[in-house]
Order: sequence, then C-alpha cells, then structure tokens
Amino acid sequence: MEPGEGPSSSSAAGDPPPPPPPPQAQPPPQQPAVLSRYESQKRRDWKTFLQYLKNHRPPLALERCSGAHVIEFLKYLDQFGKTKVHISGCTFFGQSNPPSSCACPLRQAWGSLDALIGRLRAAHEEESGGNQESNPLAARAVRIYLREVRDAQAEARGIPYQKKKKKKKRKPPSSSFPPATPTSSAPDKLSSDPSGGGSS
Ligand SMILES: [Zn+2]
Repeated sequence: MEPGEGPSSSSAAGDPPPPPPPPQAQPPPQQPAVLSRYESQKRRDWKTFLQYLKNHRPPLALERCSGAHVIEFLKYLDQFGKTKVHISGCTFFGQSNPPSSCACPLRQAWGSLDALIGRLRAAHEEESGGNQESNPLAARAVRIYLREVRDAQAEARGIPYQKKKKKKKRKPPSSSFPPATPTSSAPDKLSSDPSGGGSS
C-alpha cells in the first residue's frame, strides 16, 4: 500500500485487459478455383439435357433440337417438381398459404425453369462456339413458354413475381431476359411489347 498514490494518478496500466480474441476469428479459407456452384450445376444440367435428347423417341440430335423440343423437356421435368401449383378447380387456387393440403400436382417452379434455361443456354453457346442463332434454348417459343408458366403459377399460387419495381429511374421497358451478349444486329425486331406501354 502506498498512501501517496491515488487510484487515478498512475493508471497507465489500469485499463482492463482486452478480451482474448475468439478462437475462430479467422475467416474460412476461400475455396480455390474449383468449379463454382454455377459451373458444376450448368454441366449437370447440360448432361441431363443431352441425356434427354438421347432417350428421345426417335433420338434427337442436338442440331435438330428446336424450341418445341426444349419445351417438351421442361414439361418432362415437371414430374420431378416440388412446387404445388393449384389447378383452377382447387379451393386453394390463388392462395399463397393454403390452410391444408390438396391433391394438386407438383410442378417445377417457374424460377427453377428460368434459371435452368439460362444455364443450358450458356452451355449450348459454349458447345457451339457462340452460335446463338441455332440455339434452341434461346428460341422465342421457349421465352414465351416460360412467361406463360410464370404467369400461370403466379395466379395459381397467389404469388406475384413482379415484386421489384424500381421507381427511382424510368428505364425503358426491357424484356424479362437481359441480353447475354449485346449483338449489333438483333435478328428479330421487337414488333410490339405488350407490357411496355407507358410512354405514349
Ligand atoms: Zn390445390
């Protein structure tokens, strides 16, 4: 005990000791450049698609595959779907949160199909050396089909898919699919966009 020293005169070392760092303070190590999830998923999807063409009757070469075949493929996938889509006669049609279950079929969710087509389209481009014109995954019919699935599921499930409406800036209405690679000359002209009537 030293009487001359108050508790505040020499408290240079009086700070409470900092808490020890938690043992797992380091961030998890970054995955090295193995295939990303997207890439591996894309390859899996591509294999599935080729397998489907192979099992098609009659067998279908990729070069002869059309947008209609792609739509067939998407419909075929519905049997593996997990998304309840109410039929129009169901009591829960249009209800996003039905109180009980029903016998309506399970389908592939539109979002899954949309993402799948995006991956397959990219895979096809890689396989064919960037030839987009012969890409059945990018066919107009496929786009239209996906849009119909989206609207039908939105109505049947009571879930609108157009949630993100940005009001900050008025952008010109673009199609629902962003162009992957802007080409200087678009092969098909936009004759009329039914959703884009706002500036007349
Ligand atoms: Zn139902």
